[in-house]
Amino acid sequence: MPPTPPLDLDALHHDITGWFATEGRNLPWRSPQCGAWGIMVSEFMLQQTPVARVLPVWEEWMRRWPEPAALAAEPAGEAVRAWGRLGYPRRALRLSEAARRIVEEHEGEVPSSPADLLALPGVGSYTAAAIACFAFGQPETVVDTNIRRVHARLVSGKALAEPSPTAAEARLAGDLMPATGDDGGDLACAWNAAVMELGALICTARSPRCAECPVSASCAWIARGRPEPHYTPKGQPWAGTDRQVRGAMMAVLRASDDPQPADLLVDTAPPESGGDAESDSAFQRLRSLAAGAEQRRRCLAGLLRDGLAVETEAGITLPH
Ligand code: SF4
Repeated sequence: MPPTPPLDLDALHHDITGWFATEGRNLPWRSPQCGAWGIMVSEFMLQQTPVARVLPVWEEWMRRWPEPAALAAEPAGEAVRAWGRLGYPRRALRLSEAARRIVEEHEGEVPSSPADLLALPGVGSYTAAAIACFAFGQPETVVDTNIRRVHARLVSGKALAEPSPTAAEARLAGDLMPATGDDGGDLACAWNAAVMELGALICTARSPRCAECPVSASCAWIARGRPEPHYTPKGQPWAGTDRQVRGAMMAVLRASDDPQPADLLVDTAPPESGGDAESDSAFQRLRSLAAGAEQRRRCLAGLLRDGLAVETEAGITLPH
């Protein structure tokens, strides 16, 4: 195997953060005016959803709920409704629960310590590190999918990161962090954001744009002749999955304030028009899916079990 270029960490830090300073996207949660709550909401939304889909929903959330207390004062169902089509709506429920805990336990302010953040609903080690770093300037090591992929190519010479995060990847990420000196961790935080952005814009999963990469001369994957991936990534099928059916059921519940009869949600017959265009269209979409009654019942049971929907005497509705 061809030798990989020697790693000059200072040069990598300089080149990638320099690239980020000029080429990084001007996103509202990166603005100095954005507080910790805005950053926290963005981190929840961005966990499994691209920036372009998150942006309008984040802006609407910030307009409605500029502080945790504003969200905490609303029923959880409103958070789920306003989550719209971002997917994985349990994140909305967790964010709503987290807002209540922030009000009850932290006087309405997002806590800054990773330990306090980790204790909040829906906050895992990645999100805690990201909020501590991006909202409070703490030099935590942040490791997300984009960062893992950049590290795998740039330093380890592999086409892909491992299928799921490993201890070795976490150690490598820690080793690559800039030391915290007189800057109080500014460079470390910029590094986290910059590598993440490089993975999102240049070192992308399917077709890395190496000609535009600020560190292509140091890249181990390039030096090794761009070897093929060491495994075949699994695609994520969507059509026909329970996720698709659950998503369509959630759209029906979001479209109306009125409870929906459970048998209408699991019915496979064409719907009769109820007069409300948004509700009709959500029902049309649910009925158009090639899902049998058993799959529909299973999906509805899953939504009730997860707390994303509740059953009342009048029917199924978003949580109160
Ligand atoms: S040169 Fe290509 S593969 Fe290497 S880090 Fe840059 S974009 Fe990724």
